[in-house]
Amino acid sequence: MTETYMQVALGQFFVQRFPLEKDEKLRAWDAADEYLLNDVAPKLKLVENPRVLIINDSFGALAVALHTLNPCSVSDSFISLMATTENLKLNQLPVNKAHLFDSIELPTGQFDFILIKVPKTLAYLEDILTRLQDTLKPDTRLIVAAMVKNLPPSVWQTVERLIGATIPSRAVKKARLIYAQPDQQRDVPTNPYPIIYQLENTDYQITNHANIFSHKNLDIGTRFFLQHLPQDNNYQQVVDLGCGNGVVGLMFADINPQAQLSFIDESFMAVASARQNFNHAFDGRSAIFKVGDALTDFEPDSADLILCNPPFHQQTTIGSHIAIRMFKQAKKVLSAGGELWVIGNRHLGYQASLKRYFSKVELVASNAKFIIVKASS
Ligand code: SAM
Repeated sequence: MTETYMQVALGQFFVQRFPLEKDEKLRAWDAADEYLLNDVAPKLKLVENPRVLIINDSFGALAVALHTLNPCSVSDSFISLMATTENLKLNQLPVNKAHLFDSIELPTGQFDFILIKVPKTLAYLEDILTRLQDTLKPDTRLIVAAMVKNLPPSVWQTVERLIGATIPSRAVKKARLIYAQPDQQRDVPTNPYPIIYQLENTDYQITNHANIFSHKNLDIGTRFFLQHLPQDNNYQQVVDLGCGNGVVGLMFADINPQAQLSFIDESFMAVASARQNFNHAFDGRSAIFKVGDALTDFEPDSADLILCNPPFHQQTTIGSHIAIRMFKQAKKVLSAGGELWVIGNRHLGYQASLKRYFSKVELVASNAKFIIVKASS
């Protein structure tokens, strides 16, 4: 049985992962969350009505434990923010006990405590720290927390460069904290994000926010997918599932002018990038942009084609469970004769997973590293 009660200095709280999985084996928090909460608890008492900002809480463990302080919580993940709300409810707490912000618009004003769980992408940490400057006071306590394995020197260097001198804690249960002292004299470099480049062999300009999959350049798997996108007037309602910066849907729209595209991702930065890229490419052409969890909000029988380069991790947890959920949901959302096109690394075995839900699974193309598969019923 997975542990769901988190015991920390601030009390005991029920916290679970989302989306709910049968036989979930992983906890919704880690030793770095516990360490951070136990470390900050006595410090919070030294400040009257402290303003607390949480960045990148995984499933809401930090926000739930700190709810008496009405913290602001920023995340790029729709699922993390949804999990925070659900976990507040599961602890019989009003949902407005935490003020939730997506990563595009940060809260304003200054904070006494800024508590950061190190994100998977260094670029995102760099972007957030650069954009947090106005929230810092000389005595803001900024604490960065992570499991030691997720704390390479580049994280420390980034915090030192953008905030100020750092002091590491000792490691506890393989977790460590970094305390940063805001140095208001330092020159903060211009934020390099979003990154803009021209999509190869096209005139399209691509803008990538910091937390986008392959934010610096076109991913090699995505490039292979772009070379094999289908062209057919029968594709009317088309979904770019897990759209990232939206290049797959954008290039599909380029060769299929009749198609109505929907772009969906659980990352706010991904959907913001996809929207910007599509609107820049096709002046006046309409499309739908959704931040959400896979196809959960899509009607049955509502799509003719779903294009998907699935994620292979949720936060720092690697696995094909999200891809498989996407395949299962795609089966319901596709209309009769509809097709799901998937690209993946050969070793991921997507063909076998797709056969669980679709009667026809055909190989469209392959190279040394990737396969593209078409699934239909
Ligand atoms: N389609 C883009 C491309 O090919 O460059 C991005 C593909 S990337 C491998 C997978 C994408 O799935 C990421 O943008 C990630 O944010 C998104 N994703 C992960 N979990 C998701 C979920 N539950 N619902 C929707 N999108 C999700």
